[in-house]
Amino acid sequence: MNVKELVDKDTQEVKAYYCSVCGSHESARGQNAKERMENCCRCSECGEKKDKNENNYYTYCKKCEPKVQARRDLEDQKKRLEKLAKAEDVTETFIEGPVYCEALEMYFGDVDEFCERAHDEWDEDSEEDIADNWPEYIHPCHIKKIRSWDAERLANNMVESILDDQHEDCELEADDDLISAIQNFLNRQTDASQESWYPDFTKKINVKRWIELSKEREAKK
Ligand SMILES: [Zn+2]
Ligand SMILES: [Zn+2]
Repeated sequence: MNVKELVDKDTQEVKAYYCSVCGSHESARGQNAKERMENCCRCSECGEKKDKNENNYYTYCKKCEPKVQARRDLEDQKKRLEKLAKAEDVTETFIEGPVYCEALEMYFGDVDEFCERAHDEWDEDSEEDIADNWPEYIHPCHIKKIRSWDAERLANNMVESILDDQHEDCELEADDDLISAIQNFLNRQTDASQESWYPDFTKKINVKRWIELSKEREAKK
């Protein structure tokens, strides 16, 4: 057992439980404190005692780490695929605008730009096996103009980041002057390129189909 009791000498009352491996402790008043301390340095996978030198940030031991990691990757992958399956296919209607590729974790100005890049990335030898190497789907993006950002939130972020480097008692708050100064700055950002993009994972574009459609559109011109 890893768990040890901390007893009040006078009353013989158990005051706390602590883990004999890492020294973590918890007040005996806490619900299930003993049980938690019993499992403190115990691997959640195999139930073995963890080594003193192991990273206590993880609930599992070194031996089990690859197994746990592989299972989590699989779960993530499953979630991604479920999300993708539910997304609305907008290939037929999507013509222009920025897109996001999850496989590359990159944004592109439009699908053409993505195709050029994807060509360099996966398809050096052959034009034909696009579908084999490229991701099947990419996502359109929401566009938000920088001038429509929330001035108050930016002001608060700014003050917070200033305070990050200061001692704990240092106080600073965003006031109306700062907010309106930031608002004025945002209002002046009228350049078309000053926008931010956010992937819309509820929609998807089938890359192969999109290329076919765009060829058809070209042919009709
Ligand atoms: Zn412990
Ligand atoms: Zn283990």
